[in-house]
Amino acid sequence: MGAAAMTDERQRELAAGLAAVRERIAAACGAAGRPSDSVTLIVVTKTYPAQDVVRLAGLGVAEVGENRDQEAAAKAAAVAAAGAAVRWHFIGQLQRNKCRSVVGYADMVHSVDSVRLATALGAAAAAGRVGAGRLDVLAQVSLDGLSHRGGAVAGDAVAPDRQLDRVLAAIAADDALRLRGLMAVAPPAPSAGPAFARLGALFAAVRQRYPQVDVLSAGMSGDLEDAVAHGATHLRIGSAVLGARAALE
Ligand SMILES: *Cc1c(COP(=O)(O)O)cnc(C)c1O
Repeated sequence: MGAAAMTDERQRELAAGLAAVRERIAAACGAAGRPSDSVTLIVVTKTYPAQDVVRLAGLGVAEVGENRDQEAAAKAAAVAAAGAAVRWHFIGQLQRNKCRSVVGYADMVHSVDSVRLATALGAAAAAGRVGAGRLDVLAQVSLDGLSHRGGAVAGDAVAPDRQLDRVLAAIAADDALRLRGLMAVAPPAPSAGPAFARLGALFAAVRQRYPQVDVLSAGMSGDLEDAVAHGATHLRIGSAVLGARAALE
């Protein structure tokens, strides 16, 4: 049995998932009066093998997301070895001791939620990305005001290290980083709409202060319509393209 024959069935599955998601995005953009090219699809490939990323690249996917460094580093190397070119988005909780590894393959890091992490990522990027330019970074925002769930918090009800204004300032001031915008994970339905509405307002306020900001990363398989309605520019979609993940995540 040839590798091509093995690939075909999964390739068709992925193509169908991708087509369905692209239709949902187009419909959501239509409903919001936005051009469909105003939204970038990032396919989240965590727990799925490098070969699926290669298949997705063959289907025209240019942006993929991962949430764990160990898995992502190995996958990025395997995908590159297979000759496929995609851009890697790091979207998971990031430990400072993993920054050196992440800057080796990531094109954008979505999950910077403390001043200390921004500083560590900046140092790693300065040392590890010589000649590759600044690393694109988003500040992750908590939409429920609970910093322990990940995300910096707007206002001063938390320790300074986790205050959104300070995190934004730390990223913007770092010569090795480029502040591109905000990322958030919505609380479960039915709260996604109101949460994304708050996020959209916050994004507008941040753009006033940092005109270079142009990325709002919000929206997953279950809530992409709400995210598009409130101005998301980047969607992070996993299960709706690849299928339900095993529970170990
Ligand atoms: C896994 C993950 C996603 C994708 O979730 P789906 O519900 O599978 O679309 C998006 N964002 C983050 C931060 C994730 O960890």
